[in-house]
Amino acid sequence: MRKVLLIKYAEIGLKGKNRKEFEDILISNIRRSTGWDVSWRWGRIIANIDWEVEESSKIKRVFGVQNFSKAFVVDLDMEDIERAAVEISKLEVENGKRTFKVKAKRSQKKFEYGVYDINSIVGARILREFPELHVDVHNPEFTVNIEVKEKEAYVYSDKSRGPGGLPVGTGGKAILLLSGGIDSPVAGWYAMKRGVVVSALSFTSPPYTGKDTKKKLISLVERLKEFSGGRNIHLYLCPLTPVLEFLKDKAPSRYLLILQRRSMMRIAERLAKKIRVSAIYTGESIGQVASQTIENIAAIEETTTLPVIRPLAGLDKVEIVKKAEEIGSYEISIMPQVDVCSMFVPKNPVTKAKLSVVKEIEEELSEKLAKLEEESFAMIEKVIV
Ligand code: ATP
Ligand code: MG
Repeated sequence: MRKVLLIKYAEIGLKGKNRKEFEDILISNIRRSTGWDVSWRWGRIIANIDWEVEESSKIKRVFGVQNFSKAFVVDLDMEDIERAAVEISKLEVENGKRTFKVKAKRSQKKFEYGVYDINSIVGARILREFPELHVDVHNPEFTVNIEVKEKEAYVYSDKSRGPGGLPVGTGGKAILLLSGGIDSPVAGWYAMKRGVVVSALSFTSPPYTGKDTKKKLISLVERLKEFSGGRNIHLYLCPLTPVLEFLKDKAPSRYLLILQRRSMMRIAERLAKKIRVSAIYTGESIGQVASQTIENIAAIEETTTLPVIRPLAGLDKVEIVKKAEEIGSYEISIMPQVDVCSMFVPKNPVTKAKLSVVKEIEEELSEKLAKLEEESFAMIEKVIV
């Protein structure tokens, strides 16, 4: 009888080759994130660790994990299974639980006892050991789960919820446009939740932004890295000041924001081609601020051919803040610092930009603008977090 952590993942929709890849990636993500000794066993992942709650909290950040339980691994022997079930029940009784049921599952036919036999034999044994307990099959205070596998059985009661989602590395690669604000780190979290490997791109405006800004961005990426399945995240810092100054000087102020964002998108697309990623994530939420009306989003997105994914599109600010607090990015995002491009943000931006007007303005500036964007792109600094 050995204590382990039994880790489960959702298998729905996973077939053949995809399934194997999913499992391999999930296992290496768990290994990298936790440093645990983990292995795959018949549709389950087993971590050979003690039941330290402290330690198991790391697993709560590995996407792809549905739930996990403190379990006993035992040989395929009825007496061993019963003893493990008694140990598990003892813990629950100590916690004041008084009703239970036994729920056995058998994925192989060689074991001499069927599910019904296991349930009744183990149930009777538990009742003998703990006269204060009663069976309640409909609404028990705890359930003793017994999974009979090929060469061993798992016995456990409680299940803790994992973060769900898909293992990072199973969902392609994207660039996350990361500002120092509250929203974009949350968008990065949602990207990773669906298995996407993100690289962050932040536009800075030196000399207005400096070391503090860089530090803040690195801290945000460090926080996101806790969810990356132990992978490094690349942070690209792109100084945009010449582009911003040129636009401020030459473009009508109401259209400034749209034009700035279009430049950012074009630079992001260039980077995407270079580092071979196929989408851009942003922290935009429909209607939150002037730049985020449907019309303006359309006018911004038109300049790139890459899909722009906005996981926060349908969330309210309070929901985003709540998620940021859960992730731990909120406290970093609200740190006072010169906001990344804030001194260039105009006071009265259009709320319904006309694409034809945008293109007309940009056309006039295009030659110089393309050159400045190229220069900004060439000055990108890469930080591996
Ligand atoms: P956030 O809280 O993420 O800063 P926001 O509510 O301030 O978002 P905007 O300023 O309109 O909204 O920015 C919308 C999105 O554009 C951001 O979520 C981010 O993805 C991207 N973005 C804005 N500024 C920058 C920047 N300086 N560098 C990189 N991406 C940026
Ligand atoms: Mg912002």
